[in-house]
Amino acid sequence: MAHQAGSAAGLERLMEEYGTGLLRLCALQLGDAALAEDAAQETLLRAWRRYGTFRGEAAERTWITAIALNVCRDLLRSPWHTHRMELSALADYVYGHVFVRYTMKQWGQTPEEIDPNTTARVPVFLSEDCRYFQDAYQGMPLEGYTPMFQSLLDHPDITVELGVDAASRLTLDGSAALLDGRPFSGPIIYTGAADELVGCKYGRLPYRTLDFRFETHPVDFWQSHGTVNYTVDQDYTRITEFKYLTGQELPGQTTIMKEYSRAYTGAKGEIPYYAIINAGNNALYAKYRAEADRYPNFHLLGRLAEYKYYNMDAIAARALELCDDLLK
Ligand SMILES: Cc1cc2nc3c(=O)[nH]c(=O)nc-3n(C[C@H](O)[C@H](O)[C@H](O)COP(=O)(O)OP(=O)(O)OC[C@H]3O[C@@H](n4cnc5c(N)ncnc54)[C@H](O)[C@@H]3O)c2cc1C
Repeated sequence: MAHQAGSAAGLERLMEEYGTGLLRLCALQLGDAALAEDAAQETLLRAWRRYGTFRGEAAERTWITAIALNVCRDLLRSPWHTHRMELSALADYVYGHVFVRYTMKQWGQTPEEIDPNTTARVPVFLSEDCRYFQDAYQGMPLEGYTPMFQSLLDHPDITVELGVDAASRLTLDGSAALLDGRPFSGPIIYTGAADELVGCKYGRLPYRTLDFRFETHPVDFWQSHGTVNYTVDQDYTRITEFKYLTGQELPGQTTIMKEYSRAYTGAKGEIPYYAIINAGNNALYAKYRAEADRYPNFHLLGRLAEYKYYNMDAIAARALELCDDLLK
């Protein structure tokens, strides 16, 4: 068969004729689909580049199979592959011992039942950096969050009313958003739970809640790092020791907080913390979203109103984005 060595047409023919078979052969040799794809591609490229050396003593298929077996053997022997196998064994260990058990405790479900975006919130990485986040710039407000928010809210155009349930002032009556019983046409940004605003009429959106238990101990430090997660041996999911985060210097005493995760029931005083994101719950949320979308001046914003997980930087960015939209 005519072969234009080094030409795109020649490579195309080899791919068409041998691509699928090579992929199968390499997968059998390597036991890894992604690696098999690389090996099949490398085989085709080698065959194409060396076509001039093919003397036709064996069938073309036999010659290409021999190249594939060599490619697979080289891959299996390479230090890169050995390293990869070690990492893969480590990943399996971390997944089985950390992810599965921690996830079950935190979410009351197996990882398979949970949206991958949720489990991806706890990334696994090998690093000398002991910080939880990988962002280039990380810090705390100089005086802490309370003074920062006090300064933000200290503006003549801002009124703060605490302890007021939005539902006691706000009604969505089917045609207009009412504030204190009267139609209100200005922008309304709602950060509460989307289901609670309309009396959970389609059923409650499921959440996990947390019990926080504080303990003070007569030692300089209780643990080695700011936050330590517990996967198996304790009922709590993690312990946070705030001294590490604030840099506070207080010899001989430290306060820690243990977090216990459980299902949110909607009981008075309970706070919904983590949305349990999966296809069924997203579909339920879509019904509440559709209710809110009927009012053009009504905007759902935040982890509760949008039924999703936000880190603080992400929700700050989302809030600024919504403000930009409203100011246009
Ligand atoms: C345990 C825990 C740890 C976290 N740790 C981190 C972390 O380390 N780093 C990080 O970046 N992010 C962290 N987060 C996420 C961070 O808390 C959120 O990104 C952020 O709080 C989301 O802001 P929000 O405005 O959407 O919601 P919230 O901060 O919850 O604000 C919603 C507001 O709406 C009010 N509200 C609710 N319902 C009503 C109602 N009916 N009437 C009137 N007001 C109402 C609430 O009182 C609240 O003030 C953590 C979250 C949790 C739960």
